[in-house]
Amino acid sequence: MFTIKQPNKIIFGCNSANEYTYSKKSLVITSNGSEKRGWFDYLGINNSYIFDDVIPNPSIETIDTIQSEFSNSEIDTVIGLGGGSSLDVAKYVASKMQKKKILIPTTFGSGSEVTRISVLKVNGLKKSFHDDEFFADVAIVDSHFIEDSPIDIIKNSAIDAVAQCSEGFDSKNGNQYTKFMCEHAFQLLENGIMNMDKEKIVLGSLISGLGFGNCSTTLGHALSYVFSNEGYSHGHALSYTTAVAHDFNDSKFSSRFKKLVEKLDFSKIKLKMNIEDAAEVILTDKKHLDNNPKIVSKGDIIALIKKISN
Ligand SMILES: [Zn+2]
Repeated sequence: MFTIKQPNKIIFGCNSANEYTYSKKSLVITSNGSEKRGWFDYLGINNSYIFDDVIPNPSIETIDTIQSEFSNSEIDTVIGLGGGSSLDVAKYVASKMQKKKILIPTTFGSGSEVTRISVLKVNGLKKSFHDDEFFADVAIVDSHFIEDSPIDIIKNSAIDAVAQCSEGFDSKNGNQYTKFMCEHAFQLLENGIMNMDKEKIVLGSLISGLGFGNCSTTLGHALSYVFSNEGYSHGHALSYTTAVAHDFNDSKFSSRFKKLVEKLDFSKIKLKMNIEDAAEVILTDKKHLDNNPKIVSKGDIIALIKKISN
């Protein structure tokens, strides 16, 4: 038996975010720079309430800040607009405030617009929260936003999508649906990255989200957070942590994944913190490790971190 969960409505297509009609009582949650880029004009939401202070790897305190700032405003909808960080904050806030959720990604990789996962920092450390209440009522995936994206953003997001679908394919929590979606996502993303076909990257990212969102990511993601805690972007960390995890798991995507990392030209990563301590932190990440196809010991983790740093 398995269950498939996803947002009630997913709208996909170039200019779809421009064509959608938003409530006048919307609260837009995004990062600064959205206005300058003309995104509010594009959506036609200039009269809405705006919170544009989401920073990368946001902390759980952001949720309280937004709630106290807007709890007395007449809001019926929360619109998350931006990368994974903005969407993760928006879905968490909207579920706490019990408002309609519209999620519009402007980077394509996290799949956050279609998952029940919100990643926030608690006491300085990244933590992923999983809750059906986080599902969008409407997810709008519009490739318009990738056109002006800087290449660094595109590559960091794209490798996240690749890591997610290939880890998801191997997840012990998977089923026929997730395997089908994850494999198809990998093919789209691989083709999109090798040929810089942005439309394929956007579609691949959505399908990756629908796939891994219904199973889970695994060891590669578990290993990545200690690197992110030291400042590496999520995608950059994954380009090496997922590569060694795929080797460890004998993933069928192992060599194809490494080719994509080479193509995107990621620089090496190195951990500053003590490796034993890092392994202890990683071992507590049961959500990812319990779904890994192979059992992972503390010794395995230490060996894998050493391999990454060499
Ligand atoms: Zn990820």
